[in-house]
Amino acid sequence: MAYCIMKNTLLILAFLLTLSCSFKENKSEKAELLSDLLQSATWVDLTYSFDENSVYWPTNVPYTHDTVFYGINDQGYFYSSFKFSAEEHGGTHFDAPIHFGENQNTIEKVPLKQLKGPGVVVNVSEKAMNNPDYLFTVDDFMVWEEKHGLIPEGAIILVYSGHGKYYYDKEKYLGTNLTGPEAVPELHFPGLSPEAALWLCEERNINAIGLDTPSIDYGQSTDFMAHRILCAHGKTIYENVANLDQLPEEGTFIIALPMKIKGGSGSPLRIVAVI
Ligand SMILES: [Zn+2]
Repeated sequence: MAYCIMKNTLLILAFLLTLSCSFKENKSEKAELLSDLLQSATWVDLTYSFDENSVYWPTNVPYTHDTVFYGINDQGYFYSSFKFSAEEHGGTHFDAPIHFGENQNTIEKVPLKQLKGPGVVVNVSEKAMNNPDYLFTVDDFMVWEEKHGLIPEGAIILVYSGHGKYYYDKEKYLGTNLTGPEAVPELHFPGLSPEAALWLCEERNINAIGLDTPSIDYGQSTDFMAHRILCAHGKTIYENVANLDQLPEEGTFIIALPMKIKGGSGSPLRIVAVI
């Protein structure tokens, strides 16, 4: 009897040991696979450098970057340090849901899982390059779905309007060279229609939407409905996204990490695509 119990216990122990070994093997195999995949993937930077040419809203204070120290210090070694100041919403940047959504998440509260997802690149450049006031329609997203299937859960939608190629030419990119309040009525660039914003929020489950213009609402918007709808649904937005012409329509994974500003409504964003 005692022998039997001991034998059974040994068998159970052996079984558990085998289980834990194969679990560990699976775990390390998975880690190796992930590491290989990430190392061999192509990484595309979707971020513009921050500099004196960065695009800010016409009523914003421009970005500044000043030298604190640069050169050989009094101890004989090289040292450099700078300081910068910036409004939250300029250059390649992130809108947290609190931007237009009362009681919605500020940046530091946006969960990490919402800062990444499969990329859905929707090319509307043919229509948007002929019309700077173009509004992306539900149909534009359905055309993508006809080719590639349903927009996946947790997707990051990136709308390629083609206007990113004007980023360093403010008159073409924003529609005006003016600054200050008198520039605002002169803004012309494409954006998301309120109908499409609502459809993306209610009919699909996306993590975020980004585009290659200064704002998710088109330049002529006065009520900012696309922002208001997306933010009210807890979605995040990326504006002035670079290099969208380098992405395939599907098969990318997007990682978008904003600066973790406590209480922030937006911030500079480093965004990359892994192909
Ligand atoms: Zn913004």
